[in-house]
Amino acid sequence: MKVDCHNHSLFSPDSSRPPEEGAAVAAEKGFGYLAFTEHMDLGFPNDARPEGEFIFNYLITDEYFRRMEKLQSDMPEISLCAGVEVGYTPEDVPEIMSKLSDYPFGYVINSVHICHGLDCYWKKYWVGYDRRQAYLEYLRCVRESLDAPYRWDAVGHLGYIGRPSPFERKTLVYSDFPEELDDILTVIIRKGKILEANSSVGGCAAEGTLCLPDISIFRRYYELGGRKINFGSDSHRSERTGYNYDIVADALKNIGFDKWTLVKNGKEFTEDI
Ligand SMILES: [Zn+2]
Ligand SMILES: [Zn+2]
Repeated sequence: MKVDCHNHSLFSPDSSRPPEEGAAVAAEKGFGYLAFTEHMDLGFPNDARPEGEFIFNYLITDEYFRRMEKLQSDMPEISLCAGVEVGYTPEDVPEIMSKLSDYPFGYVINSVHICHGLDCYWKKYWVGYDRRQAYLEYLRCVRESLDAPYRWDAVGHLGYIGRPSPFERKTLVYSDFPEELDDILTVIIRKGKILEANSSVGGCAAEGTLCLPDISIFRRYYELGGRKINFGSDSHRSERTGYNYDIVADALKNIGFDKWTLVKNGKEFTEDI
């Protein structure tokens, strides 16, 4: 089954797409499962954003769930899920836990966008770091996020730091940090979580990178016994829904993966890739 487990709509501050439009496009492209995973980035330092105006506020309301419920009853041909992408920031754990308990989120992605108060999309994130230090710092934040005390189902876009990286070689590959990546992958496997293949790769695309994490990391995950994976386009606009699905799915099948692990209404199930 074609699946896309990571999408944003106007209930995220950086998308203006109605969820109805996203679902219609996904169904048209032959997807059988689509999850919206709206942003919950409570630690986003809005006042410090160098570009000024952009405010990363939290927009999830009752209406999100009402509309998703109606949409599912209007579109029985596609399985829809109202999920959330939680941006991990240690200072905000109590508030994240409280917000997660406000609504019955069907699926929870655990992502790292901010390290020590700075988004890696900001130039000042990189000041004073060489590639190794900057990437290691990001991996430390990811490792820490795996111990978040709230419920989560999947690790979002591992290797996110490569998207805006100012270095010549952007993609985080397994051989860069085998020890740290083995630790992260082992914890994901031990905790029974899902490793997402995110086809929004930003600046890494020029290096031929198909997804985040890079295929080299999926290969190692498989070697270590990891089998739970899924696909997410991280689309904020409908033309990106399901982006590169076939290519990414083929690359994962070549490694040996044969199932997507999906979550809906908090319940895990699998579908053949
Ligand atoms: Zn994200
Ligand atoms: Zn996202």
